[in-house]
Amino acid sequence: MPDRIEEKAYAKLNISLDVTERRSDGYHDMLMVMQTVSLYDEVSIMLNGSGRVRARTSLAFVPGDERNLAVRAALRFLSAIDAGEQGMDIQIDKRIPVGAGMGGGSADAAAVLRALNRMYGSPLSPEELEALSGDVGSDVPFCVRGGTALASGRGEKLETLPDMPECRFIICKPSFSISTPDLFKKLDQIRLRCHPDTAGLTEALRRQDLAQICRRIYNVFEDVDDRRMNTVAEIKGILLDHGALGAAMTGTGSAVFGVFTPGSDTAQVQALLKNEYAFCESAGCIGVLNAPSV
Ligand code: ATP
Repeated sequence: MPDRIEEKAYAKLNISLDVTERRSDGYHDMLMVMQTVSLYDEVSIMLNGSGRVRARTSLAFVPGDERNLAVRAALRFLSAIDAGEQGMDIQIDKRIPVGAGMGGGSADAAAVLRALNRMYGSPLSPEELEALSGDVGSDVPFCVRGGTALASGRGEKLETLPDMPECRFIICKPSFSISTPDLFKKLDQIRLRCHPDTAGLTEALRRQDLAQICRRIYNVFEDVDDRRMNTVAEIKGILLDHGALGAAMTGTGSAVFGVFTPGSDTAQVQALLKNEYAFCESAGCIGVLNAPSV
């Protein structure tokens, strides 16, 4: 067995995000079309037999202990295969912006699970790996599976959808981040005016109709009463003015993405957004990473 392994931790975007119900346990039921994109953190794992799991990231403010989802994922995997005496160092080169709604921490956790399962010779089936990943966080099962999927429940119930038709994403994150619990609290204080047409969106995916998909891009969190949504609207406006077929905030923000046809010249809008805001990158779609065996 190798004692070192590397894995890409791909970010996600929410093509649509709906909150369908506030549950009595305080959680929310969601309905989301999720997409894996080519922006990634680089994760390297070195086994060391120390009995301790530690992470080191390229960003000093991201914790390296059990607060890091990658560490929690490793511990969960070791306990599932009864290898509790094993230890490891996890090195994470962060490229996915933190607090952006792009699932950076969940992506790192998912990459650790896929990598460890490969390293140990696949003791867990794709389904078992995905099921266990739900203990680490609600977005981790999607990040383990990857591709295009409809996520429901807290985000952990997945149905793989047809791949997005070929397209280009321009992703921009303003300098502020948004706390997920904070935005859920704000969402609970309002009555949602609109919901995304999720059924129409999945149908458009089946027909591979990019224009119709983009007409249905929608995130209910953009409706909350929060001044930061003005910046989100500003970025969306810039993307749409420069030819995006659709644009929305991803997750609970603060990153915003626009969808462009594959041949579009996005150099000007990228330069403009990069100049005005902290982060702007272009990305493509990534397909399924951990295909269920049936
Ligand atoms: P989500 O869309 O799942 O809410 P996000 O993209 O908004 O996620 P993350 O980048 O995952 O947010 O980071 C949110 C918080 O999680 C940060 O405060 C960070 O300290 C913590 N965190 C834990 N593990 C990691 C990790 N591996 N990488 C980045 N942040 C992590």
